[in-house]
Amino acid sequence: MTTKTVPFTKERAEGIAAAFPTPFHIYDERAIRTNARELKRAFAAFDGFINYFAVKALPNPYILAILKAEGFGADCSSLPELLLAERVGITGERIMFTSNDTPATEFREARRLGAVINLDDISHIDCVEKACGIPELVSCRYNPGPLKEGNAIIGKPEEAKYGFTREQLLAGYASLKARGATRFGLHTMVASNELDPAYFVETARLLFDLAVEIKQRLGIRMELVNIGGGVGIPYRPDQEPVPYDRVAAGIQKAYGDLIVRNGLHPVRLAMECGRVVTGPYGWLVTRVIHLKETYRRYVGTDASMANLMRPGIYGAYHHITVLGKESAPATATYDVTGSLCENNDKFAIQRRLPEIAIGDLLAIHDSGAHGWAMGFNYNGKLRSAELLLREDGTVRLIRRAETVEDYFRTLDFAGLDSFK
Ligand SMILES: *Cc1c(COP(=O)(O)O)cnc(C)c1O
Repeated sequence: MTTKTVPFTKERAEGIAAAFPTPFHIYDERAIRTNARELKRAFAAFDGFINYFAVKALPNPYILAILKAEGFGADCSSLPELLLAERVGITGERIMFTSNDTPATEFREARRLGAVINLDDISHIDCVEKACGIPELVSCRYNPGPLKEGNAIIGKPEEAKYGFTREQLLAGYASLKARGATRFGLHTMVASNELDPAYFVETARLLFDLAVEIKQRLGIRMELVNIGGGVGIPYRPDQEPVPYDRVAAGIQKAYGDLIVRNGLHPVRLAMECGRVVTGPYGWLVTRVIHLKETYRRYVGTDASMANLMRPGIYGAYHHITVLGKESAPATATYDVTGSLCENNDKFAIQRRLPEIAIGDLLAIHDSGAHGWAMGFNYNGKLRSAELLLREDGTVRLIRRAETVEDYFRTLDFAGLDSFK
């Protein structure tokens, strides 16, 4: 069981909403820092351990600055993500550039920043060489295919577009070495939102085993092993968080069995978690503006799936707290909807909740990762503001809400005059 709490009262939320109109995402700095420290502490036995925070989960410079201060790096996969990391001072090998279908300009930019370039395909060796030359340190992304089971979000590895096969990996490292690379990394990312700690231990074992084979067959020593992200969070109250200590202990055993025993120590262990780092520490706060009764009872909010897309596209559960009614009995059944002209714009379907009144504030939980970030402008919906609840209890605007002017910014109305 996980108790789903909100770090502010209804009164505080009303105060915040008076300054920053709903809907908004609000992130809890203290909880993000505490969790970041717990993750680091769990892996402290691994010398040089780093979590490259997956920027796509919460691409906000204030969040990246907090995580940088906590010792995290950045996992980037596009030009703007690279530039965002650079702007907060995360550069060099504190960046892992794990992209796919990568344009040459992005390889060049990653190289300029000194990022660890993680190749998605054997054919990209030529692309990188042409774009910017082979860097001294290069990583390759492994797709274990049928050797590993995937999960619902990322699918089966053999159906996933990412990574090298085992044979390609062996040929790829040999080719990289022949072209001048001297330092090597190995990476995989095969699951998303996975809650089973054993899954990550198995992933590490798979990569350690491969590192041993690469050493034996090619004489190439792996410097960095990145087991990817994908650590899940308990979206539902009946789920449990992944115990970092158990994952770390399992990986430590595998490290001893494979890396140490085969003389490969030291290998730097890395992860690139996004969701588990910030996901549980964000809430989408939205106001109820309509109640509707037809074949079902509907709660109409001032947000939409443009602010939080996961329920609409994955059918994902996001817990909802009706602020001020935290301990009221859940006696009503509602579909909680947004205003998009799509029937899947529902934050909850047939959810048991306390009786809701127009004007109530809802806190939709676990919006701290893949929440704001997945927002979009379809149907003329504007992306919301992002707020940071500081450790001293104050609230800071860390991204303003979009305006209609932002929505129009890429349009050329002036050209209309001469358009016949
Ligand atoms: C999305 C992604 C991550 C982060 O995944 P989480 O589920 O947020 O931990 C890490 N690495 C790669 C390559 C990704 O695509």
